[in-house]
Amino acid sequence: MSFTVETAARTAPATVIVGIDGPSGTGKSSTSKAVAAKLGLRYLDTGAQYRAITWWMLVNGVDVQDADAVATAATKPVIVSGTNPSAPTITVDGQDASGPIRTQEVTSAVSVVSAVPEVRALLTELQRGIAATAERGIVVEGRDIGTTVLPDADLKIFLTASAEARAARRSGELKGKEAVDLTATRDALVKRDAADSGRKVSPLAKADDAVEVDTTELTLEQVIECVVTLIESALSRAGQSA
Ligand code: C5P
Repeated sequence: MSFTVETAARTAPATVIVGIDGPSGTGKSSTSKAVAAKLGLRYLDTGAQYRAITWWMLVNGVDVQDADAVATAATKPVIVSGTNPSAPTITVDGQDASGPIRTQEVTSAVSVVSAVPEVRALLTELQRGIAATAERGIVVEGRDIGTTVLPDADLKIFLTASAEARAARRSGELKGKEAVDLTATRDALVKRDAADSGRKVSPLAKADDAVEVDTTELTLEQVIECVVTLIESALSRAGQSA
């Protein structure tokens, strides 16, 4: 564990880097945003970046099943993430992409685009740059943060939940936006997790030194509380305070 501090006068605040990984529907986004806001940290949703590049491919007629075409096009879109946890933003070539990246079309295509090594290399570099410049620190959520993007993170958390609980939560989020079929939602989640876990380059995986939190029986408030406590104890173990 390492913290950036001025050892002599301790005038500079500690920098804390937290990676939160796990499959979809475990409460990663809600938890990460709330924890970052509580502790005055920045927040980065790496899934939104994979969705943004996927959206750009679809809009620009790139065949997402053609890994070479995706790799060649991957350098073209300019993806910018705003890291305020109270109002995170994502733009592609200066255009707000926060709505379009959540469509079913993007959700269905994102796993195949994110399995392309060139896409991962580009976004991993972007993510590391954002984390390195977060003044007080950052909570970064994704699938490979603890294993690949930020292997030296001060704290790594891996959220899990049963497929049923995850499908129920995702259906709750979608309600009102789309017709929701619980079984179809569950099947789509399981399929996307299998694709994300099975890809060759930086798959969805728990880092050896990550703390696993099963959220199946927990409320969102309990998960937030648990993660805040984990961060505070990591900081106090290192002799600092958030
Ligand atoms: O978190 P979210 O469900 O929005 O992520 C969308 C997709 O982006 C995931 O299913 C996965 O394919 C990809 N992803 C990834 N690596 C990350 C974050 C997301 O491959 N660090």
